[in-house]
Amino acid sequence: MNTNQLKRIEQLKKEKNAIILVHNYQPPEIQDAADIIGDSLELAVKARSVTEDTIILCGVRFMAETAKVLNPEKTVILPAKDAGCPLADFLTPEMVREARIAHPDAAVVLYVNSDTAAKAEADIVCTSANAVEVVRSLKEKTVLFGPDSNLADYVASRVPDKKIIPLPEGGHCYVHEMFSCDDVIAAAEKGFTTICHPECPREVRKGADVVASTGGMVKMADLADSWMLLTEKGIGYRLEKLFPDKKFMIREDAICKDMKKITLDMLEHSLITGEYAVTLPAHLMKRARGPIERMMALQKE
Ligand code: SF4
Repeated sequence: MNTNQLKRIEQLKKEKNAIILVHNYQPPEIQDAADIIGDSLELAVKARSVTEDTIILCGVRFMAETAKVLNPEKTVILPAKDAGCPLADFLTPEMVREARIAHPDAAVVLYVNSDTAAKAEADIVCTSANAVEVVRSLKEKTVLFGPDSNLADYVASRVPDKKIIPLPEGGHCYVHEMFSCDDVIAAAEKGFTTICHPECPREVRKGADVVASTGGMVKMADLADSWMLLTEKGIGYRLEKLFPDKKFMIREDAICKDMKKITLDMLEHSLITGEYAVTLPAHLMKRARGPIERMMALQKE
């Protein structure tokens, strides 16, 4: 742990009146610098009520843009300007518009892991923590759901009275797509309880003991002594710190390259220089805010 650098970051944070929000998949040293660590939903909820002048969002671009849309008066900084999300890249706003024409009676639900311009075309946004609740809340019987087809399939299994159409067919996260039944079997043989992210393929979700977002994994960790985590490796560090008496297994190769782009040097650089501030056209923020706020209105807290 680079204690001196963490102290400098702490000092800079006070001078700049900044808060550091960090996603569960970030590297250990970035988690150590966090004010708040969470999943996409937890970070979005926090970003909305931040009182500091500046939000440093350690995650990927769609997360920083969501924070900006929810709290546009604040300066939102993404320390690695090229940290994107290959899953979000599966869906363009044009594809949403075309799907709406083809399915005029359908509601459009977009996963938060999508571009801001695509979100602006949606009826409502969801995260992996609340996707089922969001879809259940809709009056429409047909739902266009994108861009993750595994999450769409998971939602379809939990909300059988609605027709869920993946948008596009085959959109996926390459990190979660790498898991197979072999991972579930290997964990079961060792006596580990398996918990998998809903972005995992259907056969993995069916074999796992529990399906949950990373925020759900943190909340449920107390329920068993040893866990196999079928998601990105970064969550393992957080859980090991929070629950030192429990055993966690995670695949060493389950790494999202974009989530590992931010370094402590970049974080310090961001606090000194203000790079790289998120800028979005006002009209786009206004259109994207509606679908995100509709999701927020469903939150109980
Ligand atoms: S883990 Fe998957 S969904 Fe999350 S940012 Fe990386 S590519 Fe996107």
